[in-house]
Amino acid sequence: MAAGLLSAVAGGAAAENRPAKELFGGMKLPARAAPSPYGSYAKGCIAGAVAIPSDGPNWQAMRPSRNRRWGHPQMISLIERLSKDAPSVGWPGILIGDISQPRGGPMLNGHASHQIGLDADIWLTPMPDRRMSAKEREDLPFTTMLKENKFLTVNDKVWTLAHARLIMLAASYPQVERVFVNPAIKKKLCDTWTGDRTALGKVRPIYGHDAHFHIRIKCPQGASGCKPQAAVPPGDGCDKSLAWWFTAEPWAKPKKDPNAPPPKPPRPTQLSDLPKACAVVLQAPAAESEMAATYGGGAPISALTAAPAIPNGAVPALAAQMPELPDVVPIPLARPAGY
Ligand SMILES: [Zn+2]
Repeated sequence: MAAGLLSAVAGGAAAENRPAKELFGGMKLPARAAPSPYGSYAKGCIAGAVAIPSDGPNWQAMRPSRNRRWGHPQMISLIERLSKDAPSVGWPGILIGDISQPRGGPMLNGHASHQIGLDADIWLTPMPDRRMSAKEREDLPFTTMLKENKFLTVNDKVWTLAHARLIMLAASYPQVERVFVNPAIKKKLCDTWTGDRTALGKVRPIYGHDAHFHIRIKCPQGASGCKPQAAVPPGDGCDKSLAWWFTAEPWAKPKKDPNAPPPKPPRPTQLSDLPKACAVVLQAPAAESEMAATYGGGAPISALTAAPAIPNGAVPALAAQMPELPDVVPIPLARPAGY
């Protein structure tokens, strides 16, 4: 298994210089350990992630080839809860988009966040009343909630009260810290939501997010390696911070100095940029199988959480126990030929 892990991690002589997104993007299974997020939503990783099954009574997971059905068990059970509660707000079931990679971390494409198993995308398309094939789940196009030819305006031909109620339901759970939606959708909620507005402040405007919304949960209690985000400001958020999105500023192209040299492409995140624990997570033994690490499928969650934890606050101590842990944590190279 170790050799398999090494070859999965490596695969090239220059493995140690490979961007973190290639290392984490190549992992097929989670690290077998107690569930632990390390780092922040946009710079970190997760040990002991579990997968949500592709199908549940009220959900279907989309884009199966991406292998991003993995998350912290609290994220996975929150999604299950949302799927169960959805029919009560007139939404038949949910289509689940990306959660995280098996060990989290940066991704080869898409998302800056989704790195520690505490973010999940839910489509703004209701689940159809039949099971879609794997191919349909790959190919089903997104449906934007916006008018094609009008600046930041929700299209009332596709937007319904059930959309609003699903987003507000997601925001209502105490463990949900933020729900990201397009600014036009936030404005729509501000203008039309007549129910309890307590949770509306958690719904945050952001670029994109016009065909799906994004649920972010808090750092789980006791997860000392998880770096929390600042709390959302008080109030419903239907204020200046929203009005700003309707000005030219967020959409203006950055001004270019014609005499400036072309900008250098940004340096991709390296493993050494992530919390030290992420090098351990990357090299940890894999879960037995995808099935064994799937929520409710094969192994009970309790069996997974009973696995030994990767020490958390104790990561520096763990590093001290290793014979030598240089600043740049070495990545195993490819297996020698003929081995
Ligand atoms: Zn997202």
